[in-house]
Amino acid sequence: MHKVKFIRPTSLADAVQIYRTTPGCRPLAGGTDLMVMLHARTVRPEPQAVLDLWSLAELKGVRRVQDSVEIGAAESYTGIIASRDVQQHLPALAAAARTIGAAQIQNRGTLGGNLANASPAGDTLPVLLAYDAVVVTDRRAIPIDKFFIGYRKTELHPDELITAVRLPLGRRVAFRKVGTRAAQAISKVVMAVSGHPARIAIGSVAEVPLRARRAEAALERDDIEAAIAAVADDIRPIDDVRSTAAYRRAVTQNVLRGLLDAFARG
Ligand SMILES: Cc1cc2nc3c(=O)[nH]c(=O)nc-3n(C[C@H](O)[C@H](O)[C@H](O)COP(=O)(O)OP(=O)(O)OC[C@H]3O[C@@H](n4cnc5c(N)ncnc54)[C@H](O)[C@@H]3O)c2cc1C
Repeated sequence: MHKVKFIRPTSLADAVQIYRTTPGCRPLAGGTDLMVMLHARTVRPEPQAVLDLWSLAELKGVRRVQDSVEIGAAESYTGIIASRDVQQHLPALAAAARTIGAAQIQNRGTLGGNLANASPAGDTLPVLLAYDAVVVTDRRAIPIDKFFIGYRKTELHPDELITAVRLPLGRRVAFRKVGTRAAQAISKVVMAVSGHPARIAIGSVAEVPLRARRAEAALERDDIEAAIAAVADDIRPIDDVRSTAAYRRAVTQNVLRGLLDAFARG
């Protein structure tokens, strides 16, 4: 790893100011993606400095804000799983967080990191799409369905920090991840579904985590068989080291059927 300057701001205002004015600077939250990439020298452009957000109190915690739950961008998955508000109002998010890595990764990994890393296989991302989450940054609020704009590309400006994620209360969302093992597995297919409003959000089946719009339209008409047929046209799976496109297509349809059956049973 080449030498990188390590900057530890003491407040969010400080972090925002440093990020805007330091060329070649890269934010670091839990480091579970970035440290791996720095060691492998796959970060482009190679950062000259790392801005450590981990200890900033403003980016931590889970709180109720009017009719939503707001989660700090640098809150860990362990903190998210332990939150009563998440358990009570966002159980699908807790379920997704429990599938991420194992305890060590859950102690350090964050929603801000999962979002900014923008892997198509990021496990919280379909859940955030199904809840119509809002990504809050140091300067604006971005609806999640506008956030992912290409393979590992987001709507964030190069000097913009995610500060929190807001999810609405009162929505029922179901989650399922299919991987090789129960822990430490990258998703082959990961899905989150909401009945009302109809949301079908899927990861690992395209270059971005996506909403299956044709399937959602069929679900809106309560036509479950049409939704299951349509979802195969909504996704763009590829063959890769984890799976084949044909497998992902079949599994996507099976998982959708399973989640919709679970909804129907209440
Ligand atoms: C062994 C292992 C297992 C894993 N298992 C899973 C898994 O099962 N499912 C899964 O989805 N992921 C998994 N991951 C990936 C990783 O843990 C998650 O993506 C995690 O959410 C990243 O969060 P972080 O805080 O560690 O991000 P970091 O590594 O700190 O940062 C990731 C990226 O986000 C940027 N960033 C971080 N915070 C901000 C912010 N506030 N504003 C703007 N940019 C920011 C960084 O610059 C970097 O580009 C795994 C990783 C490892 C090493």
